[in-house]
Amino acid sequence: MIQAFTDTAEVVHFIHGQRTAGVGTHTQAVYDPALGKAARQLRLAEAADVDAAVQSARKAFPGWANTPSPKRARVLFRFLELLNAHQDELAAMITAEHGKVFSDAKGELFRGIEVVEFACGIPQLLKGDYTEEIATGMDNWTVRQPLGVVAGITPFNFPAMVPCWMFPIALATGNCFILKPSPRDPSVTLRMAELLKEAGLPDGVFNVVQGDKTAVDALVVHPDVSAISFVGSTPIARAIYEGAAKHGKRVQALGGAKNHMVVMPDADMEQAANALIGSAYGSAGERCMAVSVGVLVGDAAEKLMPVLAQHAKSLKISHGMDASAEMGPIVTREALERIQNYLDIGVQEGAQLVVDGRGLKVRGYEEGFFLGGCLFDHVEPGMRIYEEEIFGPVLSCVRAKDIETAIRIISEHPFGNAAACFTRDGHAAREFARRTQIGMIGINVPIPVPMAFHGFGGWKQSLFGDMHVYGEEGVRFYTHQKSIMQRWPDSTAKGAEFMFPTNS
Ligand code: NAD
Repeated sequence: MIQAFTDTAEVVHFIHGQRTAGVGTHTQAVYDPALGKAARQLRLAEAADVDAAVQSARKAFPGWANTPSPKRARVLFRFLELLNAHQDELAAMITAEHGKVFSDAKGELFRGIEVVEFACGIPQLLKGDYTEEIATGMDNWTVRQPLGVVAGITPFNFPAMVPCWMFPIALATGNCFILKPSPRDPSVTLRMAELLKEAGLPDGVFNVVQGDKTAVDALVVHPDVSAISFVGSTPIARAIYEGAAKHGKRVQALGGAKNHMVVMPDADMEQAANALIGSAYGSAGERCMAVSVGVLVGDAAEKLMPVLAQHAKSLKISHGMDASAEMGPIVTREALERIQNYLDIGVQEGAQLVVDGRGLKVRGYEEGFFLGGCLFDHVEPGMRIYEEEIFGPVLSCVRAKDIETAIRIISEHPFGNAAACFTRDGHAAREFARRTQIGMIGINVPIPVPMAFHGFGGWKQSLFGDMHVYGEEGVRFYTHQKSIMQRWPDSTAKGAEFMFPTNS
């Protein structure tokens, strides 16, 4: 029997190996979105709390950076075991605060665990290059060394997975980490901090500061924070990228998305319909990789629209701990209102609202932030419901005459996170993968979240910065390269040389 998360204790910070309320006195409610009620309070950090976390991390840094990488990996191996052992407990925390169904919460946790598995191989990943006798009597090699204190700022929609995109690799490479999770669902990472300590991580190496803009601003300007990883909406991603760069930091800032899925007329329509439904309405559409636009090519629209409408109307929606639920509530009342407002906008713009999920009441959870699946047909580029991120269970379908049109409209969209193509035609699939101006592509895969070894990141308004998160790009992001040249001259020194050294 899986226990729901019902703890009412205040959610506080985790600094220098322990929970602490810090000095900030402001709090904010954390909601159970299925009940529509505050479940616990969250302590919000002031700049002084952020500074306390940074100072703790700074103190811990020399010891951790000088710990041999296999020993650091062993701590992560123990953390991995603990994460696996506590999967149900952690997933229940996600469901209680985010609202997504329990099986989906376990799924996101598992994708985070895969990054921990990747980070356990860090001694192999940190091997540098060596060239013997690059010049007469001279060797040259490169090593990668940690940056120092680095920070992660994460969104509500993947409260476990997105932090795991960052901190396992940052820690494995010898950095100390400050996490600022989303104030909507902060409990799961606080528990992870305790599991890291239980795994043997020294105090100060991983800290959590809870909070909002005040905490984020303090991290962005702090002189002892060397790098910031951010995942969230595009306007905040852009602001963090600009602000942190101005303060001399390395930054990767992942933003919003509008992911398209093309269905070619030759696709397996049942597979395509299932893929569209699962990826548009799973997690109530609150996934950065959710498909929010279906691009139906040729007569695919006639075949698919009735099936999609039928599925959207019959989604099983309830509390995320209800084993039969396919979709839970929306995260907050404000988000629910924002999404509902887009339905009005779409109708005003001339799109056809085929399924309207408003007014849904779930028995036993009448106050919850629920919205049924919503489906638009005849959406066109230029409409706000096409251009802007809605981030809810709303699938907008666009009709396209051929693959060329599909590639063009997707490539012209300001977001560039992910796009998928469902087809049986290898040539169409290859052209789509090669030419579409998007960071992550799925061929008959609706949510192409790359595996831990490959790195995650979009293009255009979906990512500000040079490097993707996790995979080898993650290792590069959290380390700087040092080049070492070495010569051991014999004692017959020639005296000072004033010519620029060459190998000629
Ligand atoms: P958000 O931008 O509101 O918040 C993200 C983080 O920034 C949170 O920690 C929040 O506390 C902080 N923040 C919010 N407003 C701030 C401000 N004015 N100044 C400084 N910090 C601020 O995003 P969200 O609503 O939590 O998450 C949903 C968004 O995240 C969607 O746009 C989604 O597409 C995006 N997302 C993107 C990816 C990706 O990989 N590209 C992954 C997950 C989520």
